[in-house]
Amino acid sequence: MMKTSEVPCVPLTELPKPLDQLSPSELERKAAIGKVMTHTLQSLTSTYIDSGFQWLLPVALSQSTDPLWPDPGASIDKRIEVDIYGKIVRTTASMIIHKLVASSLAYPKLFIVSPNVRIEKAERAKTGKHIYEFTQLDFEARDATSKDVFTLVEKALVTLVTSLKKDLKPELEALRCEPLKVPKAPFKVVDKAKLEAKYGDEWEACLSKEIKEPTWVTNIPREFYDFEDFKTGKWDNYDLFLPQFGEVLSGAKREWEYKKILAKIERDQIKKENYALLLKLAKEGKVKPSAGAGIGIERLVGWATGVRHIAETQPFPRVPGTVNEL
Ligand code: AMP
Ligand code: MG
Repeated sequence: MMKTSEVPCVPLTELPKPLDQLSPSELERKAAIGKVMTHTLQSLTSTYIDSGFQWLLPVALSQSTDPLWPDPGASIDKRIEVDIYGKIVRTTASMIIHKLVASSLAYPKLFIVSPNVRIEKAERAKTGKHIYEFTQLDFEARDATSKDVFTLVEKALVTLVTSLKKDLKPELEALRCEPLKVPKAPFKVVDKAKLEAKYGDEWEACLSKEIKEPTWVTNIPREFYDFEDFKTGKWDNYDLFLPQFGEVLSGAKREWEYKKILAKIERDQIKKENYALLLKLAKEGKVKPSAGAGIGIERLVGWATGVRHIAETQPFPRVPGTVNEL
């Protein structure tokens, strides 16, 4: 395949356009990114199935969804709530609550390829990393530790990149400025407090620029469902950062004890009634310890293909601030 565009090698000047506005060479490029997407989905889902995970289908509307709060990275313009059958439901922001319930009650190891709706502020249009509808490979494993998750994700990424380089060599060469490197496992692990001490508030941008290999960041204060040691104040959670690209995954060991979940929901001033089922199950001792994470698929494919904006990996781009007919 010929190199179809200079786009990935230059700064982001133009936002990704819908299919009907693309030139023939841009459509060819879009199709090449589509091949990487298909390969990525096949490789990741196979790794999880081969590791004993069950594949659950997602839901779009629920009374309970991710509060996305408090999260230092969140920038939500609007939350979508709608009345159906006399009840208020929300569009899925992530499947975290469903994962906790499903892995506790019926499916000890599960993953869901799940659409997430997050109406990001329009000012995020040009970050290149934010879209207002995206997809997570969201997984959870009962009784797993953070270390188990690291090992599984590292295996998934090494397998993915190795096979991409073998099976889609011409596409990667056409799309990327530099060769994609197979990451070296195990990845380095750094405490967020150390990064803040070194870089200050800009630690995320600095880390992304500095690292040459994927790197885990741990101990990040955020939503109530991530495990926090009340004695030490440390959080048993993690993000995975990719070189140049930044955060591609967030996850944690989870809270399962009723008293802690309740205390944290109250501390965060989140509406308890939106998490009534989780609280009830936790009170009955039915929420089991687990660990898991969500991998942002468009970000992962964006990194693999070297695009300037992850909406380029979407057939129907969801750039913050822009609504196309499709
Ligand atoms: P979170 O739990 O909020 O960190 O989301 C899990 C993963 O989904 C992140 O690590 C990203 O890879 C991806 N993600 C989150 N928000 C967005 C967004 N607005 N656009 C694209 N991907 C996102
Ligand atoms: Mg995150």
